[in-house]
Amino acid sequence: MAHKKSTMFRAVNILAVEDEEAIRDMLSFSLEREGHRVFAVPSVPAAKKLLTTESIDLALVDWMLPGGTGLEFVRFMRANDATRALPVIMLTARTDEDDISAGLDAGADDYVTKPFSPKELHSRINALLRRSQAQLTSPSQITVGVLQLDAAAHRALANNTPLELGHTEFKLLQFFMEHPEHVFSRSQLLDKVWGTDTEIEERTVDVHILRLRKILKPAGADKMLETVRGAGYCLRVNGLN
Ligand code: CA
Repeated sequence: MAHKKSTMFRAVNILAVEDEEAIRDMLSFSLEREGHRVFAVPSVPAAKKLLTTESIDLALVDWMLPGGTGLEFVRFMRANDATRALPVIMLTARTDEDDISAGLDAGADDYVTKPFSPKELHSRINALLRRSQAQLTSPSQITVGVLQLDAAAHRALANNTPLELGHTEFKLLQFFMEHPEHVFSRSQLLDKVWGTDTEIEERTVDVHILRLRKILKPAGADKMLETVRGAGYCLRVNGLN
């Protein structure tokens, strides 16, 4: 039986923010020819408005734009929940390395320097879509007892209450949640959570475990993180009793 691939296909909605009409037309023409749906706008305010009305899958953002630079727009998107994970490619005439790294620091996933060929842009778009699809399908959401963790969104909940976790506590909790009911020694935790190259005392693990328990306590989930005498620590699925 033939695969019905066509039914799986949905046009990719691409937002293109570009103030030069000729480039805007070129983007619309060449990307639509590839089967994408293109929403080409000349300014940041127009782009912001469009983000509220259309479901956008990827954004192409020109660096130099009237009414705010493309860089500010990328920062704006990264600061908003709805667009935080949106794949972004910057279009820039600037080839200066500092400018490019500023774009990447602001949260752009990739950049294409002008003048670019439509062919090059297509392959960059496809590569980025593949990368973001791969991220979406990897299991980033874990639940253990009353604990829920979303690695992609960097969010954790205990009894549906958001937890304010530091970087290390988050990684520690994520590691335990990926291996519930498994006892880890301090040196194993240092190795797995902190990394092998670190020269950190094993006591550091105890400090972070204490901090993690303190954060879990208001939800009553601190007892899930058990000290196993002479062995290390373990996250119990039913540690509430
Ligand atoms: Ca421009």
